[in-house]
Amino acid sequence: LLAVDGLGKTFASRDRGEPVKAVDDVSFTLDQGETLGLVGESGSGKSTITRCLVGLERPDTGTVTYDGFDVLRAGRDERRRFRREVQLVFQNPYASLNPRMTVEDLVGEQLLVHQGRRSREGRRERVVEVLEMVGLTGAHLPRYPAQFSGGQRQRIAIARALVSEPKVLICDEPVSALDVSVQAQVINLLRAMRRELGLTVLFIAHDLAVVRQLCDRLLVLKDGRVVEEGSREQVYGAPAHEYTRALLAAVP
Ligand code: ATP
Ligand code: MG
Repeated sequence: LLAVDGLGKTFASRDRGEPVKAVDDVSFTLDQGETLGLVGESGSGKSTITRCLVGLERPDTGTVTYDGFDVLRAGRDERRRFRREVQLVFQNPYASLNPRMTVEDLVGEQLLVHQGRRSREGRRERVVEVLEMVGLTGAHLPRYPAQFSGGQRQRIAIARALVSEPKVLICDEPVSALDVSVQAQVINLLRAMRRELGLTVLFIAHDLAVVRQLCDRLLVLKDGRVVEEGSREQVYGAPAHEYTRALLAAVP
């Protein structure tokens, strides 16, 4: 469904040293209905890959293909479809939600962008439906992000991502900023959404224990390069690369 081929991105160094090769010749595919885990330590290039994938960053090399078309060179209609069908959930639910917008507007905005033909009442109906899917209610519509806990904010972010009925969900460390007990709730929610909606998921994390609960397949990233790729059983049971073994040894 979604394929990345030969992706590369180098940044000029912030402190005028050597340029940083953040992503170095990364290729992978995301098949319909599967959950691919992307793991790596801080600075290994996970977010840069995500940003290149969704067009927030222009890669130096490589292609992104979605449902048969080249995303970076696609026409307007295809790009619009890609933006609707491929949604993102970010790491920090404190930074990713506009504090001046109510829940109704935060989630409803996505409907305006992607399905502008709905009336205000029609939008509200759909927003409530999605809020209920993620464990919130219509009573939350007039509230602001500051009135919610971190886990609830991530639910709002997930509702925002799901409201336009995407096919692919890219989660960039969606639970890293949350308490462990809240992490489990959000992971369970993502799992339920994936099952009910048949979502294809790219799940990014630095924590191998978290990824293990969700992914079918796994990619291990080190210094911008893929060092290991395999099924969950392969990677957790018999890792091929010593770096993966070291990462696994650090999991309690
Ligand atoms: P984390 O787990 O901390 O989120 P990450 O795996 O997402 O890390 P990236 O954010 O992709 O890592 O960063 C990869 C490398 O690229 C790092 O060395 C980072 O400092 C560098 N980098 C990322 N964005 C920029 C930028 N806009 N300008 C300069 N360097 C950058
Ligand atoms: Mg990151």
